[in-house]
Amino acid sequence: MFLESFRHLIEIEALKKQNQQNADVIASENKRISDLEERRKKSQTQNENFKIDEKNLKLTDSQNQIEDLQGRLTKLTAQLAMATTLPQETAFKNQIQTIQNEIEKLEKTYFENLEKSEKILNTIKENNDFFAGSLATLDDIKNEVAKTVAGEEVIIANRTKRIDALMDLCHPSMKSLYLDMEKRFKPKSCVAYLIDKKCSACHMATDATLKSTLEEGRGLECCPNCSRLLIPETAKIY
Ligand SMILES: [Zn+2]
Repeated sequence: MFLESFRHLIEIEALKKQNQQNADVIASENKRISDLEERRKKSQTQNENFKIDEKNLKLTDSQNQIEDLQGRLTKLTAQLAMATTLPQETAFKNQIQTIQNEIEKLEKTYFENLEKSEKILNTIKENNDFFAGSLATLDDIKNEVAKTVAGEEVIIANRTKRIDALMDLCHPSMKSLYLDMEKRFKPKSCVAYLIDKKCSACHMATDATLKSTLEEGRGLECCPNCSRLLIPETAKIY
């Protein structure tokens, strides 16, 4: 009574496997879009952080500090020229030396930071160029993906019609049991084959009665262990 239905079920399962392959193609196509979108988003987030890093180098502050010190240096140099006593001269010279040391130290840091800043600004520019340039690429990919996905969806839809037609050919009690179990096992397959008295999914051994009931198509049986709907392997041969 169930042998014909078992054969339909075998075909249904095979068609579903094929549909899954098309669904995988759709998923990987869509991933092309989301990957690029992700990279574009990342470039902008990175830039936000880079801008903060660059600001924290405080280049303008250092420049102002150096200018201030240079102003003081000029003033001190003029004062030194007008010094009348040796102690005065020594005092100015000492102050000048201290400021020169300070300027030297600040300039060293300033130039190091200037180099860092240039590197950061370059990366920001590269990221912005990528962001702008990848917009057209993104549109191209979206168009390509839309075409491929539409094609895959047609294939899936046609195969699903065939699946539904086969499902209607199955014995009503098998159909309702299968549809119920399909929901329970999703996304895994809810059927397994009985091969050498064993369930092909969980390898649990069953008894001889179950085997003959199935192979003669007299009843529907589920694996006592994983509860998948069992299809007799012999149904494949017909
Ligand atoms: Zn099992």
